Amino acid sequence: MQEKKVYLDNSATTIVNAEVIKEMEPYFSDIYGNAASIHSFGRQTKKALNNSREKIASLLNANIDEIFFTGCGTESDNIAIFGIVNTQDTKGHVITTKIEHHAVLYPCQHLEKNGYSVTYLDVDKDGVISLNDLKQAIREDTVLVSVMHANNEVGAIQPIEEIGTYLQTINANRKNKIYFHTDAVQTAGKVCLNVKTLKVDLLTMSGHKFYAPKGIGVLYVRKGTKIEPITFGGSQENALRPGTENIPYVVGIAKAFDIANANLEENDKHVLFLREQLKEGIIKKIPEIIVNGSGNRAISNILNVSFKYIEGEALLVMLDMYGIAASTGSACAIGFGGGSHVLQAMRVDPVSAQGAIRFSFGHYNTQDDVDYVLEQLPKTVEKLRLMSPVYKKF
Ligand code: PLP
Repeated sequence: MQEKKVYLDNSATTIVNAEVIKEMEPYFSDIYGNAASIHSFGRQTKKALNNSREKIASLLNANIDEIFFTGCGTESDNIAIFGIVNTQDTKGHVITTKIEHHAVLYPCQHLEKNGYSVTYLDVDKDGVISLNDLKQAIREDTVLVSVMHANNEVGAIQPIEEIGTYLQTINANRKNKIYFHTDAVQTAGKVCLNVKTLKVDLLTMSGHKFYAPKGIGVLYVRKGTKIEPITFGGSQENALRPGTENIPYVVGIAKAFDIANANLEENDKHVLFLREQLKEGIIKKIPEIIVNGSGNRAISNILNVSFKYIEGEALLVMLDMYGIAASTGSACAIGFGGGSHVLQAMRVDPVSAQGAIRFSFGHYNTQDDVDYVLEQLPKTVEKLRLMSPVYKKF
C-alpha cells in the first residue's frame, strides 16, 4: 500500500482551508434561516450574505450590487455569455479564444449552432493571444469579447488590461457597446484582481480553486451592464441567479477569498519556488521533454511538461501508484479524445501533446513533495519509454 501522497493537481481543485470550514460551520445548523425570510432566522443569514458580498466586492474593487453568487465557475461563464447575447434583438458576433475552458467554449459553440457568429482567436507558442488579432476581429455587430485571464492547462496569462483599455476606447464611438468578460477562475485568489484596473464588465470566479468548497462561484457584473437571467424563479441575486442562496458556501468563498488576498505575495513566491525546482529537476534528470508555455508569461503555480514517446494518461496512472496526483490538463478534457485543444492551439506537435502532464501547486505543497516527485518521475518515464514502440534509446 502506497503511504506517501503528493497532490499536484491544485488547478483542478483544492482542499478546503480549515479556517474556511470553521467560518462556514455555524451556517449549517445554528444559523440556517432562508435569507429571503423576514423573521430573525432569515435576517441572520441575510446579514451573512450581505457581509460576504461586501467582502468580495471590496477585494475586487467593485460595488456590493455588482457581485452575484452562483453555483460554480461554469454557471458564471454561462450567465455571462448567454446573459449578454440574449439582450440583443439580432444574433450578433462574439469573440473568444481557442484556449478557453469548455465552460466558455461550449456555450460559444452552442451560440454558433443557433445562428450567432463566433471568432476563436489564435494564440502564440506560449498560449497568449495577440491584441492586434482581437482588434482585427471586431465587427459592427460584435456584442461580447470573452477572454480568460489565465489558462488552466499551461497557465498563460492574457492581456486583459490592454483588451479592456482598447474596448473602452472604441466603445466611446460605437452605437452598440461591446461587453468584456473574463474567466478568472485560475487567477482568483492567486493574483490581485481589480475590476477597475482590468476594465472588465464581467468576471468569473470559482471557490474550489482557492480553498473554498466545490459548488460556489461568483460573477461580477459591472453596474449598467445590459444582462438577462438564464434561469427564472425567485428574486435572489437581483433575479439574475434565482434560487435560495447557499449561505454556508457563500460565507466560505468570501472567507477563502479574504485569506487568499491577504497572502497573495507570499503564496505566489512559495508556489513559484516549488514550480521552478520541479522544472529544473525535470530538465536535469529527464531527456527529451518540452516545457509547454513560458513561465514568464504564465501564473506561478502551473507547470506543463511533455514527455516525448509516452502517453500522458499512462504516466498519470503510474504516478498515481506512487501516490502522486497530477493531470493531463483540464479535468473536463478527459474522455474527449483528440488531445488538448490548448496544446493544439499552441501548435505543440501531436506526439508531444499526447505526453503532456500538468503539475499544479498550492500553498500546502512542500519541498519534500518536489523531491519525492523528482525521485519517482524519472524512473517512471524511463519504464514507460522502454515499453513504447516509438522510443529509441541512443
Ligand atoms: N474556467 C476555468 C478556467 C477553469 O479552470 C474551470 C475549472 O477547472 C472552470 C472554468 C469551471 O469551474 P467550475 O469547476 O467551478 O465549474
